[in-house]
Amino acid sequence: MVNNLKINKIKFKYLLKNIKPVENIEDKQEITVNIDELTIDEKYKSYIKEFVKKTSTNFNFRNPNEKLKTLDLKQKTILQTLLFPTSEAYYNDLNNKIYAGKRIEDSIYHELFHVFTTYKENIFSTVSGFNYINIHTDIARRLNEGYTDLLANRYFDSVVSYMIEANIVRKTELILGEKNMQNFYASNNLYAIIKSLSKFSSEEEAIAFISFVDKLSIYRNNIKKSIQIMNILSNYLVDVYVNVLVEFYSRGKFDKEDINIFFSIFKEEFTNYAFYNNDIEKEYLRSSDYLDISSKLSNDHFREELRKKVLTK
Ligand SMILES: [Zn+2]
Repeated sequence: MVNNLKINKIKFKYLLKNIKPVENIEDKQEITVNIDELTIDEKYKSYIKEFVKKTSTNFNFRNPNEKLKTLDLKQKTILQTLLFPTSEAYYNDLNNKIYAGKRIEDSIYHELFHVFTTYKENIFSTVSGFNYINIHTDIARRLNEGYTDLLANRYFDSVVSYMIEANIVRKTELILGEKNMQNFYASNNLYAIIKSLSKFSSEEEAIAFISFVDKLSIYRNNIKKSIQIMNILSNYLVDVYVNVLVEFYSRGKFDKEDINIFFSIFKEEFTNYAFYNNDIEKEYLRSSDYLDISSKLSNDHFREELRKKVLTK
């Protein structure tokens, strides 16, 4: 049976206090820097050009020209490989430098997304995509890694390493909309995700959701536990989706026919997970939560939720 998303009250208040709206990006910021003129090793330039070309229509990054002008790329040294053995590559926002791994094309686009979505609010506080980092907190790191992987895979066919996180964030995107998610990501708007989810669940649950995705880092080598967390997160998202439909139906925005269509499309996409590892897939399909999720996406369940909503009014 699936546990609910629960965090204690103190942690909830603490996280809520630390997730704040970030300054908006006002106008579309076109990239005007000539990449050929940058003092970056020639072998990296084609990747940067490709990144800019493929992302320029759908993303409005913050100060992209300033980032490009100071960007540096280097191959990881032996010492760095020893210090960061698990990551193919990494980005250091302190000196705006990517340390590339052996196979550049596997990870460079993921790192370039980090470059263009990192925003230093002040010397104590940095936001990287959805990830808030300051002296008190480090929130939504895994949500951010999952979404960065998802985008690098979507636009550049890159390898996905944060597979469970990417699955979960893809499900979130199904509910909130691709365009919205991409905008939230480029403008560092974790706050907007919490607000959107809170409309159709409690604020506690929305924040617990983010906090549970972060928990996946603790269980990186524990398949059973990771799947358990993934199922808790999936169940929450399905509840959110059903609440969205109930709300729109009771406001007259959708009719019965629409609900049927929405359910069948959503169910097909939602129950479809990508796994790089057969053991994870087996564990997932074996778990009874998989069936719970499917039955929650049925018309019977919808009618039941609708009845509850009408009765409580
Ligand atoms: Zn990353």
